[in-house]
Amino acid sequence: MIDTHAHIYLPEFDKDRPYVIDKAREAGITRILMPAIDSTTHSTMLKSEESHPECISMIGLHPCSVKENYEEELKVVNNYIKERSFIAIGEIGLDFYWDVSFREQQFDAFQRQIETAVENNIPIAIHSRNAVNECIEVVQQYPELRGVFHCFSGDVQQARQIIDCNFMLGIGGVVTFKNAGLDKVIKEIGMNNVILETDAPYLAPVPFRGKRNEPAYIKIVTEMLSRISGYSIDEIEKLTTANATRLFNLK
Ligand SMILES: [Zn+2]
Ligand SMILES: [Zn+2]
Repeated sequence: MIDTHAHIYLPEFDKDRPYVIDKAREAGITRILMPAIDSTTHSTMLKSEESHPECISMIGLHPCSVKENYEEELKVVNNYIKERSFIAIGEIGLDFYWDVSFREQQFDAFQRQIETAVENNIPIAIHSRNAVNECIEVVQQYPELRGVFHCFSGDVQQARQIIDCNFMLGIGGVVTFKNAGLDKVIKEIGMNNVILETDAPYLAPVPFRGKRNEPAYIKIVTEMLSRISGYSIDEIEKLTTANATRLFNLK
């Protein structure tokens, strides 16, 4: 399996990172894709990639890190892209949950990073908190773009629009939360456009809700997806791995 979204490089894992990665491997996870946040963590992310061959970096500027200095931050991202290849631009997008004071700048950073992804022919990982419809509207303007709405938690209609844009839905611990409504979405859309993620250290599934999340907990997500969809756990693992391999062009 592939955890398509885990911040394994953050300080939450400084004490036991190799152990957490071993545990993930034992749980059947062969790759951990790491979404970037901003220049304060790019170098630790790239170090984790160097020390652990199963961890693979994206690059990008997270919408919550879009502040006064975002032009500088975008330059940093672009410099990395000139230096080497990345599997995806992420995580990028819009977040109107915490702070809307940089709303226009968030749109600008999102669109400019999308254009970079299109130029480099790589997918994007979208963060869309309180902004799913806005993100869909942006993505609809780029027919050649592909990617994932990470931590999807919208409704059936939004899921359909996302799939129509050739995007995947990243499903993680939220699927185990009561009243999240993701069961309805999964029943409607099936598994052909779903990839697995944790967003570790955040959003741990029940019964670890509120605790540190880690890639090995993907197992809990696959069990829940199996229960909801009627597919066996084995089928869920195969389908989501094939979807992620295709999307991120993994070998
Ligand atoms: Zn996110
Ligand atoms: Zn994230």
